[in-house]
Amino acid sequence: MTNEKVHDMHDKDGIQATPALLVETAEDRCVGAGQCELVAPELFAQDDDGVSRVRIAEPEPELWPAAREAADLCPVQAVLLTGTAATDTAATGEAATGTAAGAGGAERERRGG
Ligand code: SF4
Repeated sequence: MTNEKVHDMHDKDGIQATPALLVETAEDRCVGAGQCELVAPELFAQDDDGVSRVRIAEPEPELWPAAREAADLCPVQAVLLTGTAATDTAATGEAATGTAAGAGGAERERRGG
């Protein structure tokens, strides 16, 4: 691990930040396609109207790949991933996958693009 990476894992007070992935759905955008629940039933459940509801807003790291896959597969980018692990897979030791697109979608959502 590079010094830069070690530095990135510490907050401004020098205390190591625990990587976290926060999951939410944009319920006003959800079209009920069900991809999120299909790939990550531990994390998502559709309500009676078909709208996706998050079951675990801050999942354990073993569920992060499933969360990222759900974000990738959602056809309307309604699965939003934030937190320190949303874009920095290297910090968590996870292999980088196409899931960055999902996190990128969340980033685009925040920026309004
Ligand atoms: S995949 Fe997207 S559109 Fe489909 S239920 Fe999940 S959040 Fe809604």
